[in-house]
Amino acid sequence: MTIKCREVWDQISNYIDGTVPPELKSAIEKHLAQCNYCSAVLDSTKNILILVADDRTFKIPIGYTERLHERLQQLMDEEGHEH
Ligand SMILES: [Zn+2]
Repeated sequence: MTIKCREVWDQISNYIDGTVPPELKSAIEKHLAQCNYCSAVLDSTKNILILVADDRTFKIPIGYTERLHERLQQLMDEEGHEH
């Protein structure tokens, strides 16, 4: 099972929460191991989780994921990075 960057981004918060199916989880891990963009996404998403870790009613800020996706798309376009 191989997945694309966008699929990783869509699942990243579920992945951190541990709510993705095992097959998807290993596919994400495999992708992260060889994709700098998605590793960066994982890191920045984790940082946000840490920032709000004291708040049990945690939610990723509205618009955060969309802005992140836009930024990553920009990076990829600039560098001609294809997946
Ligand atoms: Zn990727």
